[in-house]
Amino acid sequence: MAAPRPPRSDAAAEEVARTAAAAPDWESLATSARGCVACPELAATRQHVVVGDVPVGGRPRVLVVGEAPGATEDETGRPFVGKSGALLDQLLAEAGLDRAEVAVVNIVKCRPPGNRTPKAPEVARCSGWLRRQVELLDPPVVVALGLSSAKWFLGPRTVLARAREGGPVAWEGRSLFVTYHPSAAIRFGPNGAPRAALAADLRLVAQAAAS
Ligand code: SF4
Repeated sequence: MAAPRPPRSDAAAEEVARTAAAAPDWESLATSARGCVACPELAATRQHVVVGDVPVGGRPRVLVVGEAPGATEDETGRPFVGKSGALLDQLLAEAGLDRAEVAVVNIVKCRPPGNRTPKAPEVARCSGWLRRQVELLDPPVVVALGLSSAKWFLGPRTVLARAREGGPVAWEGRSLFVTYHPSAAIRFGPNGAPRAALAADLRLVAQAAAS
């Protein structure tokens, strides 16, 4: 099926959302998103639109959502393949989850220059792609990694530690877990609290995915 025409430069969030909603399947969405130039600064500086990794065939039990691609992700076109990705893969495996069976995406699909935080209009535009990705994948369990991702799901006043301690919440018929981003776990070191918390949370995610 033909992919929807990609959004033009400086397109409004509503236009991106309409385009994404018109994608009938993951491949059409990916084709369209790869041509998206809605955010002029990001489109001019990125190497790849990092659409996301999805398991081959079947509905994923778990969708992991990070903030935005970093340098390695921008170079390779795949999410979570740098240092943070290596730690995520390791902790997923220790929890009993194979990365190949987990869908992994970011809120914003293009790398912000210098790894700056994505701006509100960029998040607003790219949200259309993410919303459609969630619909198409239909995962029973969603994991928000880090504060930006937690805020996307739960609102701008979200406090990560509090959201995490409360355990999973219902979000549009799914179980939503909030936890630390692997980059925080790296920053605080192997014996730091964020790494232990992330590892513990991913074990709970694995249990929820298996039930
Ligand atoms: S960040 Fe998202 S909305 Fe902006 S240009 Fe990239 S794919 Fe398009």
